[in-house]
Amino acid sequence: MLEGTQLTKDFRVRLGLFRGSATLRAVDDVSITIDAGETVALVGESGSGKSTLGRILLGLILQTSGAVHYRGTDFARLQGDAARQFRADVQAVFQDTSASLNPRRRVGESVIAPLLFNRRLSAAHARIESAQLLERVGLDPKIFASRFPHQLSGGQRQRVGLARALASQPRVIVADEPVSALDVSVRAQILKLMQDLQAQEKLAYLFITHDLGIARLIANRVMVMYLGAIVEEGNAADVFARPSHPYTLALTLSAPIPDPTRARPPRHLIGDIPSPLAPPPGCRFHPRCAFAQAICKTDAPPVREFENAHRSACHFAEQVRGG
Ligand code: SF4
Repeated sequence: MLEGTQLTKDFRVRLGLFRGSATLRAVDDVSITIDAGETVALVGESGSGKSTLGRILLGLILQTSGAVHYRGTDFARLQGDAARQFRADVQAVFQDTSASLNPRRRVGESVIAPLLFNRRLSAAHARIESAQLLERVGLDPKIFASRFPHQLSGGQRQRVGLARALASQPRVIVADEPVSALDVSVRAQILKLMQDLQAQEKLAYLFITHDLGIARLIANRVMVMYLGAIVEEGNAADVFARPSHPYTLALTLSAPIPDPTRARPPRHLIGDIPSPLAPPPGCRFHPRCAFAQAICKTDAPPVREFENAHRSACHFAEQVRGG
């Protein structure tokens, strides 16, 4: 459905007065496929490049190298109606709903806009369908269509964001931390709603999250990103049953345990993610890795494949898999 091949994204960053500028590689040679009806979770800490990759796949920013194909056609070659269809078919849901909804537009108008511009419905038809969409996401249109975003809770705004995305009848939704700003009970409601909509519409999701617990709940496949590169990927069941990269293992062990009586595991993820302006040599994860050995400081690990297309970029993946 949507495929990114060997994507790289560089940004020029000003270092300050008299210090010139430098290149920051936010995405480094990443390939990703999202098939119809599946949920791919893109997991990593903040600063790992997940959102930049999501924005490239949405066509919001241009990659430095590599290609994005939608249904087999290079996105860069899409023009006219085909480009418009791509923009309708591949929709976004963002974390910051107060920024992604126009504060001066009533909720009903926000949902009507894609019906008019992407689907080219008549005004009367768009009004009826926007009311139906609000109902589908659990908002009574009689109450909510006339409200402004600031009059809604975070969960209600996220429901509006989903209704607006659905208005274009998308095939793929790139959801960037869509529930991170919500409290736990609302989070569960929105995830359930997203799963229901996926089953009804055969939607594909790229679900960007720092929360491995959420990825475990919703993903068919998991890709783990660290400092711009994919360090592990595979079926969700395989990745969670047998993490094959120390970073994934550390994220798994540091995920919250919803039982206060159970002992916490020792901290496995030490320090913060290094600056992408000066990534460590060899394996980028080595300064934080509990499995690191001398070779890790000099040689970048190749990606190796285990059963079921489960891949890991670690010199000592077998040891990690062995526990
Ligand atoms: Fe850790 Fe070395 Fe594997 Fe990198 S290659 S993740 S430093 S063990």
